[in-house]
Amino acid sequence: MQKKKATELQQAWGAKPCPHPAFAKEYDLGERTGNYVCTQCGAILSFREKVEATKGRGE
Ligand SMILES: [Zn+2]
Repeated sequence: MQKKKATELQQAWGAKPCPHPAFAKEYDLGERTGNYVCTQCGAILSFREKVEATKGRGE
């Protein structure tokens, strides 16, 4: 997912809590950033944060 799209998702989602049900790899200007974007709320998580967020969910 492009960083720009993640920002749009964040603005659309607002400040509601999100369980981060699914992630996409983050791209900025066509290059991997190494981060992940929640496809629901647009939150950008590092690889380590993503692992923490999905721990125990069988992913
Ligand atoms: Zn989320």
